[in-house]
Amino acid sequence: MFWKEKQLRDMSDDEWESLCDRCGKCCTIKLQDEFSGQLFDTSLVCKLFDKKNCQCKNYSQRHKYVNDCIKLSVNNIDKLKWLPDTCAYKLVAEGKDLYSWHHLMSGNYNTIHETKNTVVTDGAKSETDIEKIDYEDYITREIIDYDK
Ligand code: SF4
Ligand code: SF4
Repeated sequence: MFWKEKQLRDMSDDEWESLCDRCGKCCTIKLQDEFSGQLFDTSLVCKLFDKKNCQCKNYSQRHKYVNDCIKLSVNNIDKLKWLPDTCAYKLVAEGKDLYSWHHLMSGNYNTIHETKNTVVTDGAKSETDIEKIDYEDYITREIIDYDK
């Protein structure tokens, strides 16, 4: 249970990578009100997201196709207010334990799907399937605490 004993900044690359629960919730399209700056999350996933495998289709080359994809790091984890409350990095950064469905707890990558904690089990659609003008119809939550 290295995540209970180490700070994020002290984790090895392998430990850091293994923390990701592969929920895909950070790959949803966020909308921002042009006047207030208010952020909203949607149930639409990025064009590079593979709904079959619930992962990025080309993670190592993703910035070639999606230049505003943000890489999580110890330096920005507390600033990314749009991360879901279930995000393993956010939980560890806040000194909380992982959920029982996390693969590091259950020993099984399928538990997150069986317990319906991914964007795919939430019924996400791809941003490419929807006209941009209709994105607002897919808002799922208002992100209350955010940096303008
Ligand atoms: S929200 Fe967090 S745990 Fe889920 S896929 Fe994104 S980085 Fe990984
Ligand atoms: S480029 Fe890949 S990692 Fe980045 S938001 Fe899109 S699907 Fe997710």
